[in-house]
Amino acid sequence: MSGEKFSHRARKRFGQNFLTDTSILEKIVKAISPKPSEKIIEIGPGQGALTELLLANEVDLHAIEIDRDLAAFLRDKYANISHFHLHENDVLKVDFDSLMSPAQPGRIIGNLPYNISTPLIFRLLKYLPSIKDMLFMLQLEVVERMAAKPGSKNYGRLSIMVQYYCQVEKLFNVPSSAFSPAPKVESAIVKLTPNQQATNQLNSPEQLTNLLRQAFAQRRKTLRNNLSSLISAKELELLGINPSLRPENLSLDDYVRICKHLH
Ligand code: SAM
Repeated sequence: MSGEKFSHRARKRFGQNFLTDTSILEKIVKAISPKPSEKIIEIGPGQGALTELLLANEVDLHAIEIDRDLAAFLRDKYANISHFHLHENDVLKVDFDSLMSPAQPGRIIGNLPYNISTPLIFRLLKYLPSIKDMLFMLQLEVVERMAAKPGSKNYGRLSIMVQYYCQVEKLFNVPSSAFSPAPKVESAIVKLTPNQQATNQLNSPEQLTNLLRQAFAQRRKTLRNNLSSLISAKELELLGINPSLRPENLSLDDYVRICKHLH
């Protein structure tokens, strides 16, 4: 590794907030607990704060970075490390099948650019059989929505869709002061572990997406109202679901049951 100095002006359009707090970086690596030769895909390595610690654990590291200058810096810095592979690309365009497979599953990690975090996670859910787990830094508010339980104000479409595919664990909060430049929002680390059987529950997860869009169309209205074009109150009752409930009171299982009944 060269000891070259690098000064980079953070680019807002790429959501660049670099982690500088070493105790937080160590806490993240401890949560990942990387093993030698394990395949890890890091999204947005930036200036390599996390990358450096992962490489020290001898993992097989694939880093995906869109910023040309940062990519050049990392490529140069780790030129002599054979277990480091840099992919200069937009992560939303990467074909993850070329990086991992069910036989050689990957662990996905990243301090994500917040502007693309939700579309990226939905994209990754398509590669579930090839993913061992995912550990992300996200906006605290998004982590709270992902991990929310029925009945809480944060519980909604995002919670149900992500929980359909994965076990969601909120690990810890990260203050804005841990980054440079400091983001305007608080952050948190979340771990997503795929439920490998999820993909077999429904013929197509789009059915669940469509049902949730309809169910949560008006949060304050009852299911009877929101779902009137799809299912009658009587049918809901037959499925053991009270039609007078609001959408946030139903569990993932309730929604899967309605989906199976409709299709
Ligand atoms: N991992 C570094 C750290 O913790 O200090 C940087 C994190 S910064 C929040 C997000 C990183 O993702 C930046 O390096 C940015 O250039 C990169 N990035 C942004 N959009 C991207 C995209 N579409 N594809 C790949 N990388 C992207």
